[in-house]
Amino acid sequence: MSTHRQGSGHMNAAVLYGAENLKIETVDIPKIGDDEVLVRVAVALTCGTDLKVWKRGYHARMIQPPSLFGHELAGVIEETGKNVNGGVQPGMRVLPANSAPCNACFFCRKGQPNLCEDLLFNNGAYAEYIRIPGRIVRQNMIEIPDGISFKDAAMAEPLACVLRGIRETGVHPGDTVVVIGCGPIGLKFIRILSQRKVRVIAIGKRKSQMKAAERLGAIAAFDVDKIENPVELVRQLTDGGRGADSVIEAVGRAITWEWALQMVRKGGTVNLFGGCPTGTEVKIDPAALHYSEITIKSTFHHTPQFMREAMDTIARGEIRSSDFITGEVTLEGLPKVFQDMKNRNGELKTAVIP
Ligand SMILES: [Zn+2]
Ligand SMILES: [Zn+2]
Repeated sequence: MSTHRQGSGHMNAAVLYGAENLKIETVDIPKIGDDEVLVRVAVALTCGTDLKVWKRGYHARMIQPPSLFGHELAGVIEETGKNVNGGVQPGMRVLPANSAPCNACFFCRKGQPNLCEDLLFNNGAYAEYIRIPGRIVRQNMIEIPDGISFKDAAMAEPLACVLRGIRETGVHPGDTVVVIGCGPIGLKFIRILSQRKVRVIAIGKRKSQMKAAERLGAIAAFDVDKIENPVELVRQLTDGGRGADSVIEAVGRAITWEWALQMVRKGGTVNLFGGCPTGTEVKIDPAALHYSEITIKSTFHHTPQFMREAMDTIARGEIRSSDFITGEVTLEGLPKVFQDMKNRNGELKTAVIP
């Protein structure tokens, strides 16, 4: 095991200083502890969560500026701490998740590790190297199978959230499911659900998203700006006008949450997957809810189990990064990518090659 990099070299990295203030700088290569590893980043992917954090300048649980930034990556182990074992060694291609639960708190002991009170988040993917904390090394760092590209592997984190969302929603082959929102997350739902013989109706914005939704398997895709009443439209497309078996909301706005609740059939399930800004209020009709026996889920984050399922799903070829990655930049190009995402230039995910 080598320790030659510790405390010596420098690297280029993106540093978040505050709202819309991201700089590419030369910083020290992170020092690793005895149970940690240093990963050379092969590819990092941009993500809607990063856009939110970039706009706001911080994230209460995940990131306080000034801070290294980015959380979806795949790479190669450069160096391991002296207490790292279990076959984890330099040269191994890995997917380190962006978090790991504590396994000790109330929620972890209840089998809900995504709600862990001490969920450890790791940021710093937009850099040449990233330090991976011991807790992630032990529980949530997966070796990338041979033949799987770094770009495909790097999609595992958001995919794990999507797979968990599908499991919690309880979708069956033959069901009609509405997906509201056709960003990278909504499109992943569309891809996986349509692969599982579900009829997916997509509701999104802009031509590029509608095209992507259809390419990824939606039987119909509608641009909200071009339709009068999305709730009526969905009902017309379902058996007897009953509504969809399930609705997955992947936007995070009050109006789309309300649509979701109105589009689902009696006895159906709504997954309010998109997180709304704090302070958002949503109107619901208690009578309609009660007499229709609608189940409401709102799934958040992933677990080590679903990270592994995501990698297996990628290895089976059920999802390909080429359907989601619409651009590629070096670190120097990253600040402009965030500006472009803010202006909604139609790109889905950008691959950052440090
Ligand atoms: Zn993400
Ligand atoms: Zn915990």
